[in-house]
This record gives sequence, C-alpha cells and structure tokens, in this order.
Amino acid sequence: MSKFQYAEMPNKDGFFGEFGGQEIPPELKQIMDEINDAYEEIRQTPEFQEELDQLFADYVGRPSPIYHAKRLSDKLGGAQIYLKREDLNHTGAHKINHCLGEALLAKYMGKTKVIAETGAGQHGVALATACALVGIPCEIHMGQVDIEKEHPNVTKMKILGCDLIPVTRGTATLKDAVDSAFEEYLKDPVNFIYAIGSVVGPHPFPKMVRDFQSIIGNEAREQFQAKKGKLPDFITACVGGGSNAMGLFTAFLNDEEVNIVGVEPAGKGLDTEQHSATLTLGKPSVLHGMKCYVLETEDGEPMPVHSIASGLDYPGVGPQHSYLKELGRVQYETASDEECLNAFMTLSQVEGIIPALESSHAVAWAMRKAPKLSKDQAILVNLSGRGDKDADYVADKLGL
Ligand SMILES: *Cc1c(COP(=O)(O)O)cnc(C)c1O
Repeated sequence: MSKFQYAEMPNKDGFFGEFGGQEIPPELKQIMDEINDAYEEIRQTPEFQEELDQLFADYVGRPSPIYHAKRLSDKLGGAQIYLKREDLNHTGAHKINHCLGEALLAKYMGKTKVIAETGAGQHGVALATACALVGIPCEIHMGQVDIEKEHPNVTKMKILGCDLIPVTRGTATLKDAVDSAFEEYLKDPVNFIYAIGSVVGPHPFPKMVRDFQSIIGNEAREQFQAKKGKLPDFITACVGGGSNAMGLFTAFLNDEEVNIVGVEPAGKGLDTEQHSATLTLGKPSVLHGMKCYVLETEDGEPMPVHSIASGLDYPGVGPQHSYLKELGRVQYETASDEECLNAFMTLSQVEGIIPALESSHAVAWAMRKAPKLSKDQAILVNLSGRGDKDADYVADKLGL
C-alpha cells in the first residue's frame, strides 16, 4: 500500500477497501450525501477552521500534553511509556473533540436541533456540553435502565440544558435508544442532524469523526518528535467504536517504522461469550449502516457484548479499523477485565493518574509489552479519558 492511499481513505463513496459505505435506504443515502457535501465545503472555510482551532485551544485546553510515565517505565523495566493526556481535556475525555466538530458543523449548516443516543452517558455529556457552547438545542435519547444506572451523567446532561428523552420500549437500553433517536431524526432530517459518537455508522460519519479526532495524533507526532528527536516505536489506544484510536493512529499511518496496536476488550475471556473483541473474533458483516467487522450470534444478530468499560462494549467497529486490520497496518490485540483493573490501579498508584477503564485497556497492553522491549524504545499510549466516572465502581469491585 502506498503512502498516498493511506492518506486518501475513504474513497468518495465512503469505502475503506470493502468496508464502510452506506448500507441504508435510498432516502437516507441522499441525506447523508448532503451532509457529506456540506462537511467537505464547510471544513475548508477559514471561518470554520479558525473557530474550531480557537475552541480546541481556549475551551478544550489543547494541545493536551505528552507525559513520560517514568516511574511506571522503571517499575516495568523495559520500554519507556509516554501518555497522550486526553484525560486532561475539558469534560475529561477525547469525545469533546468530535462533539465540538459536529455541533459547529450543525451550526454552520443551519440545523435547528442535534439528536443523539447515549448508553453510559459519556457521548451524551460531551455532546450536551458542545451544544450548550455553540448554542444549539440538543436532544439525547437514553434507555430508562441506563438512566437509572448512570446517575451522575444524567444529572450533568440536565444541568447542561439538553432535552433528555427516557426510552422505555424493548430492553430500555442502548439499542432501543438508537431506534428512538433515529425515529426522531427521520421526522425532519432537513432541519435536524444526528450526531454519531464514534467512527461508525454510514458515510460520512466514520470520516468526519476521524477528521475531528485526528488532532490527537497530529499533536502527538509533533510533540514526541520535539521531545525525543524521533518517533515512538509503538503507539497504542483502546478500541470500542474506534474514535480515540483513529484519532491517534491517523498521523502515523505512513510512518513505516511506527508499530500501531489497537486494544480490544477481552472481558471475562476470549473463550467466554462475555467479551467485546470485535476485530479479534468477529467477521465482516453489516451493522448500523456500514460494512465492518461484527460479533454476531449464529442466527446473524449482533451479539450481546461485555466489557468492564461500558464505552467499549459495542458489537461492531469502525470500517477504517476493519480495513487496517486486513491490510496488516495495525495489529489488534486484547486486554481482559482483570488486566484492565490491574492497569487502572497501577497507573493510579505509581503515577497518580486515575485512568478511565476504557483507556486502562491500552495501558494494560503497554504494561504487558514494555518488559519485552529495551529501555531505549518507547510506547506512546493514548490516555483517552480520566477515571473519575469509574472510581466508585472500582472501589466497590475491589472492596476498597
Ligand atoms: C467512549 C470512550 C471510549 C471508546 O470510544 P472510541 O470511539 O473507541 O474511542 C474510550 N475511552 C473513553 C474515555 C471513552 O469515553
């Protein structure tokens, strides 16, 4: 694969190799094409670029630093571990990067309402934040069961002024929230916009969300080079839908000397039904308007997936990851719930940084890999978010 082709993904129809595209009814395809055209036009304009850059700097607090986790590296006795600190962003994770992009795009397109679903509430809070800032109404659909489980995020969304719609149909969880939010969107797709929460869904969302997140890797590549005069030997990130990972990876795809590793949740074990290792154990199929790797049951339904990190339990994965796996450009590995908890506690107690359980999967992989490498090699880990949201759960689980 030539360098040129890595830079050019996806093609004009939204395909990354055979993955991606628009597996949706023709009426919806037309709407998605209009969003794509508007996005391609608006993102080139200096007004949009300047407004987004300014918000990244003054509102999100970018650039997020790269931190040398020296005590952790010494303890492991191998490669040097560096952390890209997305946990220090306003709202505590990488999600604000694409939510701001989507909310601004909605404003520039003259939309009157932003609609989305949320599972654990992380996407909902980041989007409600971005919409409050941009000054555009925001409607978040959330399963009643999740509303009862995720109290702090529910409260935050209300405080931020979004319209929170409880969904009671079906199992009253994420899948029903998606259906409910989509129905609302289809009532007026000319004036509403649906804000997808990762590099998934029909074209142009995997591309758009990736573009907004690619600030992570663009900064990290420059920061690392300025610090060390070379590029890292390994870069790694956790993969749920895959947005924080694509955000880091994109800038490095053409650097052949950089090994790229995505880490999926092995949950309670790859030999159980309770994991969410889509690229590791799934197969190419269709889900949520795109072709990608999917974990399916024998009768072709999406598998009920599990991870200790609620942000990672998705039975599909971004189409670009699906293609990068097939090309062999990115290696996809796994970390279990137990390894994740261990990494969560270790990073907290050795470096004083409490990571999100999602991000802890990438830390766990780095902790497994570092001792096998030499002291002059480096692993750059994307610390996608902070673990405040997980602290009570972990304390409970470990009996602290
Ligand atoms: C939502 C979330 C993830 C998973 O989403 P991706 O699209 O795979 O990045 C990872 N880390 C944190 C902190 C999250 O909130």
